Amino acid sequence: MEKINPFDNAKKQLGKVASILKLNDTELELLGTPKRIIQFSFPVKLDSGRIKLFQGYRVQHNDARGPFKGGIRYHPQVDLDEVKALAFWMTMKCAVAGIPYGGGKGGIIVDPKKLSKDELENLSRGYMRELHPFVGPDKDVPAPDVYTDGQVMSWMLDEYEKIKGAHAPGLITGKPLELGGSKVRDYATAMGGAICLRELMKNLKKKSHGSTVAIQGFGNAGSFMAKILSSWGYKIVAVSDSKGGVHNEKGLKFDEVVAHKEKTESVVGFRGAKKISNEDILTLDVDVLVPAALENQITHTIAHAVKAPIIVELANGPTTPDADDILRRKGVHLIPDILANAGGVSTSYFEWVQNLQGYYWNEKEVLDKLDVLMVNAFTDVFNASKQHRVDMRTGAFVVAVQKVLKAEKLRGRLK
Ligand code: GLU
Repeated sequence: MEKINPFDNAKKQLGKVASILKLNDTELELLGTPKRIIQFSFPVKLDSGRIKLFQGYRVQHNDARGPFKGGIRYHPQVDLDEVKALAFWMTMKCAVAGIPYGGGKGGIIVDPKKLSKDELENLSRGYMRELHPFVGPDKDVPAPDVYTDGQVMSWMLDEYEKIKGAHAPGLITGKPLELGGSKVRDYATAMGGAICLRELMKNLKKKSHGSTVAIQGFGNAGSFMAKILSSWGYKIVAVSDSKGGVHNEKGLKFDEVVAHKEKTESVVGFRGAKKISNEDILTLDVDVLVPAALENQITHTIAHAVKAPIIVELANGPTTPDADDILRRKGVHLIPDILANAGGVSTSYFEWVQNLQGYYWNEKEVLDKLDVLMVNAFTDVFNASKQHRVDMRTGAFVVAVQKVLKAEKLRGRLK
């Protein structure tokens, strides 16, 4: 498969908005350039006693609207251009969501599935030992991303607090409740996407009950999406993970798929369902398609074959720009990543606010706040796309870019 550079994709998306908003070269350059790139190798002690060097990144894209914010990814395919794209999308996402953050992203080139728990701990602490001067509750606030979770956040927080000699729960979000995490954060990314879908269905006057859904990716975002949409009456007919997928037109029972995955580490082999590839799941004849895995899944070839009239991007960057054009021409309603998956970082924001005030909200309080925030964000994007007669992705970028540039101008960094 051709290697598609996600940062090139991000720049193409920016180019589209530039012509709509008539951005000048300086504005375009500022938005397309990360403010700071932190790149380092660091030693990690393995169980065998051997020391292995790992490569770590943190890209701080823009902080005009507030501290840098964004997750840390552990994946063998992490590279600088990927982290740069993801950091750029975080700046845009936080602006779309209207939360007071800029954007950043981190990553380590590693296959975490090959490490023991002790090795994973050493890796996470080692990464924070290198990064600590650059992050902090009012500087840059990391969070989970692909293959990192509350345990990884806990180790990083502990390492940071040891170095600083003080508690600082606002350093990092996505923490377990016991260390200052927020209610709802674990299923927030999916919930934000589900709320966007609910709003779109209302606008299109479509019924959710019985609508069929295919979900690519069964990690945090994808599995909670399956759970939430099942409970809202949707029929989940296909799900997949890194090993492949399963499909049953009559619907898959969420609890049973989860039990199977817990036992065998994959959804593949689930009884009473046909095997399906990660590519074929994207072209199933369903009402709603949810890419919830990695970038560059819906390429132009796939886009031609997509049958779903609605796409909810829970993953970051799952659709390439040329695929976007094809989908738009086909009349597909695509809720873009920087809106559809903004529920995660928005609840991270609620977590951070609770940490700073030292007072914690119950589940309903957080859910209500998330609902209001997501409905506002959806409405802004929907209206912008109508106003400029563009797809929702471009509408979302229009909303975001205007906010970031306004902040830059107020600070006097741009005239
Ligand atoms: N990694 C998630 C994202 O891509 C969450 C980031 C955060 O909570 O800061 O939006």
